[in-house]
Amino acid sequence: METPSIRKPALTGRGETRYGPDNERIMDPMDAKTPPAIRLAAETATPKPSREQAEEAVRTLIAWAGDDPRREGLKDTPKRVARAFEEWFSGYRADPAKELSRTFEDVQGYDDMVMLTNIDVESHCEHHMAPILGVAHVAYLPSARVVGISKIARVVEIFAKRLQTQETMTAQIADALMEAMDARGVAVLVDARHQCMTTRGVHHPNVSTVTTTFAGEFKTDAELRERFLRMAERA
Ligand SMILES: [Zn+2]
Repeated sequence: METPSIRKPALTGRGETRYGPDNERIMDPMDAKTPPAIRLAAETATPKPSREQAEEAVRTLIAWAGDDPRREGLKDTPKRVARAFEEWFSGYRADPAKELSRTFEDVQGYDDMVMLTNIDVESHCEHHMAPILGVAHVAYLPSARVVGISKIARVVEIFAKRLQTQETMTAQIADALMEAMDARGVAVLVDARHQCMTTRGVHHPNVSTVTTTFAGEFKTDAELRERFLRMAERA
């Protein structure tokens, strides 16, 4: 599968602002003001290993677990795992802003919240690479434009299909919607179970983690926030 080539942004010393030949600011990927896409590119700037190297790494993990990667049942497992990784982590090859770039203006003046409930979240925690499974409820307050509702689910999917913490993912979904759609407000609630917590370590099978991010009017208007939470609860 083709992956976009990642150019490493010019690094500057901590805290100093550098300018390029056209007086443009050279962005520091670690700077919080740098757009997330550039920060992400910098974080993933490790050269991409080959498929063979990835499969070899899986064989190493199988042997580490205590089995023989050459035995019949496991022979093709590294191939399957590499293919599964392409699906589980397809979010690195997609751009949420691009998904949200097509908006519609003719909505007859509709200006109330648009809410999607129970969007499936299938992610992996960045600490154990264990599945995080749950749902997201997402609402936004349109300004003049709305976006196709399937695109909102797609944005959730793009961020979920990366190595994540639930907190980061929740904030990223809200930020992407606020920025790309110029929304008056965004609310995101993610309710998920972390298999690193249910199947290992502390073994709490029934604990679910709830995270919320409120932006724009959802942050300032308590009544609006309540409405969102009631609708999420009912979902
Ligand atoms: Zn974990």
